[in-house]
Amino acid sequence: MSGKRGPIIAVDGPSGVGKSTVSRLLALRLHLTYINTGSMYRAMALAAADSGVDITNDEALKDYCSRVSLSYDFSTGDTLVNGVSYSGRIRDQRTGELASIISAKKPVREVLTSFQRALGERGSVVMEGRDIGTVVFPDADAKIFLDASHEVRAKRRHEEVTSCASHTANDVSDELRKRDERDAGRKNAPLKMAEDAVYVDTGELNAEEVVDRIVSVIKDRKI
Ligand code: C5P
Repeated sequence: MSGKRGPIIAVDGPSGVGKSTVSRLLALRLHLTYINTGSMYRAMALAAADSGVDITNDEALKDYCSRVSLSYDFSTGDTLVNGVSYSGRIRDQRTGELASIISAKKPVREVLTSFQRALGERGSVVMEGRDIGTVVFPDADAKIFLDASHEVRAKRRHEEVTSCASHTANDVSDELRKRDERDAGRKNAPLKMAEDAVYVDTGELNAEEVVDRIVSVIKDRKI
């Protein structure tokens, strides 16, 4: 760890792998600040769409990103875009789709990557996302890559969205597959495991067991 700052723990992995639950618990256990970067892509997607920006138009998106103002509320974990919180719609399935589309765009990644670096550079954070260990903090003190089979992740996602009766298990599975392909196949900061990350398969473990495993990695490294 750098002598001047607290640790930076990067937690990456695909959708539905349990990243948010595990990262939040890990931060509590280690007395670090939890930062969820997926919600930033979600907030940006909603803000751009609400402003009438065509998110498939690269030039329009570039112009939007050059003017956008971002702030982060550490007490709620909300990202405010131009002063507006989007927490009410942030977890919607449709928002996840929009976020996945917008997150492939270079200007969006540039603005959010520098925002994330500014929030985390003083350390003492657990930051979760898709590219934290590879792009945002390639020098993070510990990098964890959470993974699980498609079936396990689709089942977990389906349990999360059961309140929405129109979403069948098959719909959820198809959407997850599409999202995985988009996140892993994009040119800009694709989802992939950092070479020096620790791989944890969460399929057979509950959240506390995953956290136990990560904590033991961190202790072994004397971070
Ligand atoms: O993690 P979550 O499902 O909230 O993320 C929503 C979308 O935001 C992901 O599907 C991914 O496309 C994008 N994302 C990203 N890089 C991150 C975090 C999220 O591209 N660091």
